[in-house]
Amino acid sequence: MSTAPPDPWLLTPGPLTTSATVKAAMLHDRGSRDRAFLELDAEIRRRLVALVAGEGSHVCVPIQGSGTFAVEAMLGTLVPREGRLLILVNGAYGRRMATIARWHGRTVETLEWPEDRPVEPAVVEARLAAAPAVTHVAVVHCETTSGVLNPLEEVGEVTARHGAALLIDAMSSFGALPIDARRIRFEALAASANKCLEGVPGVGFVLVREAALAGAAGNAPALSLDLVDQHEAYRRTGQWRFTPPTHVLAALHQALLEHEAEGGVAGRGRRYAENARILVAGMRELGFEPLLDPSVQAPIILTFKMPADPRFRFETFYELLRARGYVIYPGKLTRAPSFRMGCIGRLGPEVMRDAVAAVAEVLAAMGVASGAPAAAREAAA
Ligand SMILES: *Cc1c(COP(=O)(O)O)cnc(C)c1O
Repeated sequence: MSTAPPDPWLLTPGPLTTSATVKAAMLHDRGSRDRAFLELDAEIRRRLVALVAGEGSHVCVPIQGSGTFAVEAMLGTLVPREGRLLILVNGAYGRRMATIARWHGRTVETLEWPEDRPVEPAVVEARLAAAPAVTHVAVVHCETTSGVLNPLEEVGEVTARHGAALLIDAMSSFGALPIDARRIRFEALAASANKCLEGVPGVGFVLVREAALAGAAGNAPALSLDLVDQHEAYRRTGQWRFTPPTHVLAALHQALLEHEAEGGVAGRGRRYAENARILVAGMRELGFEPLLDPSVQAPIILTFKMPADPRFRFETFYELLRARGYVIYPGKLTRAPSFRMGCIGRLGPEVMRDAVAAVAEVLAAMGVASGAPAAAREAAA
């Protein structure tokens, strides 16, 4: 690769920077009922199940659209009308699951935590003990709102102990942080092509316990989001029901080969952790302060508190970084002003170091001496 890429580096949580070879995989037209495509599609599903060691227990059911489509398909298909869903909320994606399930007319309760703190298994346990009618628990693995990592394994233990089924939004962690179906008893997990798998947007998927699908016929509030119907079609014909995003799937197939070549989940997770380490160290040196305690920070996306210097304007900061070839992300917290920088995608240590150097240049251009947040704001947060 040349030193000056034609595209900006995307320091965002997806869509993200992809490899040239992943992009090149889309330069072919494939027939959706053609054997070559069907084999590629079947191999993708096999590989995705294998990433959670779910062979024999779980199947992969893909869904056209962004990641939310997969989350909606998961909740809609698996929570029956007479079910009761407890959603653990510590950010926008937990809230979105509540919106979806209420949209479907399901009985929903939530447990909520601040956006800079992980959900607490002991609190979940107490709620499940007090509310035995809960049939399903939904949790976000890495809450991309802040970048906080939720304790999936412990939540899984508590949920299993109380006989409830666990539904996971693993959108921003899948492929980079380990999730093992033999260790965590989950009913289903939703994720998408365009985050840590480093594919392009356009397809999501649900890894679902096959036995759970058997009892889920007739639940889904929408035919196009019915996982049972798509799974049945696979069993009968080996095909998608409706036009598959063939180019997106070709890119995902290539992305999965590159994921394996990098050392799978462990290898990818290592690179992202190093990216995050470089970013945090460099930004701290410029005065910026991460929102989260390092012990609960996932190596996916970093939230920084807004600098106190009145000359700092986020819009200007964004535009000047964009002009230097880096796209960052606005904050999504409901309370404290913040911005985010991702460390996922086809980028490594050099890009992260160069990004920090670009931030230093931009601060100088704005006349901002330090990225330090206001002490008062810190205390209030
Ligand atoms: C990205 C993301 C989603 C899905 O978002 P889309 O914009 O629909 O792709 C859902 N949950 C989490 C935690 C995410 O990071």
